[in-house]
Amino acid sequence: MNTVEFSALPLKPALLENISSLGYSHLTPIQAESLPHILEGRDVIAQAQTGSGKTLAFGIGLLSRLDIDDFHVQAMVVCPTRELADQVCKAIRQLARFTQNIKVLALCGGTPFAPQRDSLEHGVHIVVGTPGRLQEHLQKHSLRLDHLKVLVLDEADRMLDMGFSDSVSDVISYAPNHRQTLLFSATFAEPIRQMSQKFQFKPLTVSIEQHHNDTSIEQHFYKVDKAKRLNALGYLLAYHRPESSVVFCNTKRDCQDVADTLDNCGFSVQALHGDLEQKHRDQILVRFANKSCSILVATDVAARGLDIQDMQAVINYELPWDAEVYLHRIGRTGRAGKKGLALSLCSDAELNRLKSIEEYLNISAHWDDIAPFKLSYEERFQPEMVSLWIDGGRKQKIRPGDILGALTGDNGIAGSEVGKIDVFDQQTYVAIKRASADQALTCLRQGKIKGRSFKVHKSGWK
Ligand code: ADP
Ligand code: MG
Repeated sequence: MNTVEFSALPLKPALLENISSLGYSHLTPIQAESLPHILEGRDVIAQAQTGSGKTLAFGIGLLSRLDIDDFHVQAMVVCPTRELADQVCKAIRQLARFTQNIKVLALCGGTPFAPQRDSLEHGVHIVVGTPGRLQEHLQKHSLRLDHLKVLVLDEADRMLDMGFSDSVSDVISYAPNHRQTLLFSATFAEPIRQMSQKFQFKPLTVSIEQHHNDTSIEQHFYKVDKAKRLNALGYLLAYHRPESSVVFCNTKRDCQDVADTLDNCGFSVQALHGDLEQKHRDQILVRFANKSCSILVATDVAARGLDIQDMQAVINYELPWDAEVYLHRIGRTGRAGKKGLALSLCSDAELNRLKSIEEYLNISAHWDDIAPFKLSYEERFQPEMVSLWIDGGRKQKIRPGDILGALTGDNGIAGSEVGKIDVFDQQTYVAIKRASADQALTCLRQGKIKGRSFKVHKSGWK
């Protein structure tokens, strides 16, 4: 058991206070191994499984090196996907709340270029982005790295998998040689070592043993004919009724089919795959995080790097080809000491894959029974919350407090009925307990927010 407390680290008191107000008291193993060296300014290559707290390790590291009075870009985090970049950006902003005026900017594709350029002109301390868009800003000189002190490569293995090797190299070629480089990866394959050799100076290697027999995840396997897969999935979902779960499919097509079928059966479900428009994906992730959608059906690519908390179950609609992918998938449940369920459907044709998973994880799978289940529209499996979607956001100066005020004012609803409020540039999502949703909708439609009326929609409401 790890017992290092954050207060034992040489951090600014205000930052420490903020860390504790965010609910963190003790360092996770990877943080305990890496943070002291990161704070000394050394290059570090850190490997640990998903969910081990790597973001906080580099987030604290780069914030503690920041000179707040210097409005040049001093830290850059390169991430494989836009979702991950958004999450990292959010996490750093939370950590940065200990002081005013730290500007953290996400630079990803799928959003207009010009506003990003304008924000950069106004001065930014930290940028978090995906390789392609960072490259574009660097080539057009809207982003300059002359003052860069810390470079972070997050989920470096995924970036290589996704073919970003050249663009990452190009992005780094704009950075000064004298810098701290932190490289994070869930795996330690040879290409990662090469990447480290190329971009790091005398790096310290930190690796945390993976707990293959992690008792916080309960793994169950069900032998099911291919043709009965959907039915079995319906049974598992109806039986366990997880508040939030991800169903993994190996193909985009399965992903959409499974989501459509579950939807027809009255489950609260969304498909997440690479063909969706960015705006739609954002909306899905917000609804999943605020608990107004309880099942996400996803491909591995689409789910990469997502930190969705409190996931009760991960379901493999089909076993993945690669044992490491299996580990990656089930690592999304049972986080932060909570118990998680990993349920896998497996047909005879997939027994080879199961064997390699058993070997890799050093487990022996035992079969569980599955009762026949009638997939029908009889019963609804509704999540606790619903989402309302307001046509206005940060650009209209909306803050969460304004929404809460409008909802709980005269003729309003109780504050305890209101869930997560997510404010984006042009829109805001607010989660409301189902029973109060109609009243909340009327309240927002008839009342004013910031002295103005906004359009309010129901998002994916059934
Ligand atoms: P990784 O990048 O290693 O996959 P994350 O940085 O996304 O993992 O962290 C996973 C979860 O663990 C996050 O929800 C984060 O808030 C939480 N976490 C991180 N550090 C701590 C800590 N020291 N104590 C408790 N929870 C933590
Ligand atoms: Mg991470």
